Amino acid sequence: MKKTSTRSRARRRAAPAPAPGTFCVVGAGVFGAVVAERIATKLGAKVLVLEKRKDAGGNSRSFFDPATGIECHEHGSHIFHTKDAAVWDYVRRFAAFTPYRHKVMLTSRGRVFGMPINLKTINDWYGAAWSPDEARRRIAAEIAREGISEPANLEEKAVSLVGRGLYECAIRDYTAKQWGRDPRELPESIIRRLPVRYDYVSDYFDTPWQGVPADGYGALFRNLLDRPGIELRTGVDFRDVRASLPAGTPVVYTGMPDELFDFRYGALEWRSLRFEWETVPVRDFQGTAVMNYGDASVPYTRIHEFKHYNPERADAFARPATVICREYPAAWKPGAEAYYPVNDAANQARFARYRALAAAVPGLRLGGRLGSYAYWDMDRAVAEALRLFDRLARGEPDPPAP
Ligand SMILES: Cc1cc2nc3c(=O)[nH]c(=O)nc-3n(C[C@H](O)[C@H](O)[C@H](O)COP(=O)(O)OP(=O)(O)OC[C@H]3O[C@@H](n4cnc5c(N)ncnc54)[C@H](O)[C@@H]3O)c2cc1C
Repeated sequence: MKKTSTRSRARRRAAPAPAPGTFCVVGAGVFGAVVAERIATKLGAKVLVLEKRKDAGGNSRSFFDPATGIECHEHGSHIFHTKDAAVWDYVRRFAAFTPYRHKVMLTSRGRVFGMPINLKTINDWYGAAWSPDEARRRIAAEIAREGISEPANLEEKAVSLVGRGLYECAIRDYTAKQWGRDPRELPESIIRRLPVRYDYVSDYFDTPWQGVPADGYGALFRNLLDRPGIELRTGVDFRDVRASLPAGTPVVYTGMPDELFDFRYGALEWRSLRFEWETVPVRDFQGTAVMNYGDASVPYTRIHEFKHYNPERADAFARPATVICREYPAAWKPGAEAYYPVNDAANQARFARYRALAAAVPGLRLGGRLGSYAYWDMDRAVAEALRLFDRLARGEPDPPAP
């Protein structure tokens, strides 16, 4: 891979245009990196990857903190996890993964609980020692007491799934902080299901395969992109250079579709986040990688402590210093980091119009979480990228919107 970083507008314009026949992939996140790797490896074609940030990795990017040697996930904790054997086989060609299995704890009402809700959470919350069947009966009775047959908002939906007690402990204030609104004002459709485990399994993800790249996310992205045929240009916004691409260049665009079309139909809405970083002079700040905060009086939703992802890195793990990051939900406006799509009917309708515009541009394919206006975990991004590559290799169009 040849990597060039072009910073000024003048230098961007001067960057050589790719040779005819070159594919252009916009965005070097998981999706773009996988598509580029497949095109270069399987088709033997040249790929120009344009990334507007200073490095590859997208939201999965990490960096090694120079003072502590701890690998920190720049956009909040990123744990690779999947049920998809093909995706797991694919990613392990580019990185070995540690055996890390994700656990999440919740501080609420002055106590600490396990998440997602399991039998320990239930017994801790109710101060009980119920068996699985007894807990099922008690929660079912609590749900029945609410008498909600057709939930009209997020609160009613959540209460109808877990009962009022657990809702208030684990969901109400956390959700209000996350969305910046009272759950009674949020649509019930935001929650499809709330996993409640009537056993003591404490893994956060219900997936057989999970971990973090043993040599870091940077190595994973280098191994994907560092290959003959791929040129990565960082610090380059596609919108600044697209006019210089040879006519007919096939483009896989993983940025925001509304931005690509100059917000013709208005902006697609997102929720954003603000991260507040701190190095704390203790060996272990919170005893786990992620602590959620369920109280309205705490303004952040969670604290990440990154050294817990890599206990095998003994030096950094033992050092009496740790990097933590408080995650604050934030309103989004164009230009801010777009993290969670506001998946309501108005935004979906607007997205459908942008998809139609994109479908009318010869050679252009939208992809990735931004281009698809969706929340995807990394494994989904890999799976969708592999599918898009298959269509591209067969010359098939992308399927119509669901
Ligand atoms: C807080 C948070 C935590 C998460 N935790 C996990 C987790 O634990 N496990 C998990 O599996 N998933 C997690 N995810 C999801 C994960 O971040 C996504 O699956 C992943 O980022 C999708 O990759 P992508 O390539 O589609 O998008 P991105 O990573 O966003 O990459 C898109 C890239 O395109 C670039 N780009 C956009 N527009 C342009 C342009 N015009 N020109 C040039 N470049 C452009 C962007 O700079 C970016 O680098 C989390 C997401 C969030 C928000």
